[in-house]
Amino acid sequence: MAAIRLDKVSKTYPNGVQALKDIELEAAAGEWLALVGPSGCGKTTTLRVISGLESPSSGLVRIAGKDVTQLEPWKRDVSMVFQRPALFPTKSVRQNLLFGLSTPFAEGRAVEIARLLKIADLLDRYPAELSGGQQQRVALGRALVRNASICLLDEPFGQLDAPLRREFSKDLPLLRSRFPATIIIVTHDPAEALTLGDRVAVLRDGVLVQVDTPEQLRHQPRDTFVTEFLAR
Ligand code: ADP
Ligand code: MG
Repeated sequence: MAAIRLDKVSKTYPNGVQALKDIELEAAAGEWLALVGPSGCGKTTTLRVISGLESPSSGLVRIAGKDVTQLEPWKRDVSMVFQRPALFPTKSVRQNLLFGLSTPFAEGRAVEIARLLKIADLLDRYPAELSGGQQQRVALGRALVRNASICLLDEPFGQLDAPLRREFSKDLPLLRSRFPATIIIVTHDPAEALTLGDRVAVLRDGVLVQVDTPEQLRHQPRDTFVTEFLAR
C-alpha cells in the first residue's frame, strides 16, 4: 500500500489558473520522492494538496490507503516545511522545535534532531541570531520533531547560497536511517533531485511528465523536455 497516492488530481485556482492536471503519483512508505520542475509548474500546489492546505478541484488524495481528500490538514499525519522558513521570532530555537508538543519524549527527540542537523549549540538562540541556513535547519527540525509519517519539504534549500545548499543537501540523507518518514522534497534544481530522490517526478505546466529512478531518467528520458531540463 502506498504511503501517499494522488488519483487523477487536478487543481484549478479561483483565478482560472490550472495548476495541476490529472496527476497520478504514488510514494511508497519510507521513500524519498523528489518533485522537480521549472518555477510555476505546480510543485508547491502538489504539496499543499497532499497536506490539505488546498483541496483538489477533482481527484482523490490517499494517505496509507485512506481517502483523506476531505480531511483537515492536522488530522493527516503530515508535516510540511515551507519555501520560506517560518519561525516564531520571539521563541528560542528550542521553543520553536517543541512548539505545540507536550509529550515527555519530545524534548529528547528535539535534542537528538538538533544534533543531527548541527544546530544543537543554537538551542537557546532566537531566530534573528541565526543565519539563513541555520533558520532552514530549525524549520526542518521542527517538522521532524513532530514525527509525522509523511514530511513534505518545499525547496528547503531555496533561500541558501550554493555552498550552503551543497552542505545541507549532503547532510539531509544522514537523517534517513534515524527517521523512516516518507519524504517528498521539492526542488527546481535537477541535480539536487537526482541526488536526493529514490525516484524523481518531473512536472511541467501542471502535468506529470515522468516518474522514475535517477538512473532511468538519465538513460530513458521520456521526451526532450526531460532531457533538456535534467541537463540544466
Ligand atoms: P511552483 O511551486 O512549481 O513554482 P505553484 O504550485 O506555486 O508552482 O504554482 C503553480 C501555478 O499556480 C502558477 O501558475 C501559480 O501562479 C499558480 N498559483 C499558485 N498559487 C495560486 C493561488 N493561490 N491562486 C492562484 N494561482 C495560484
Ligand atoms: Mg513553489
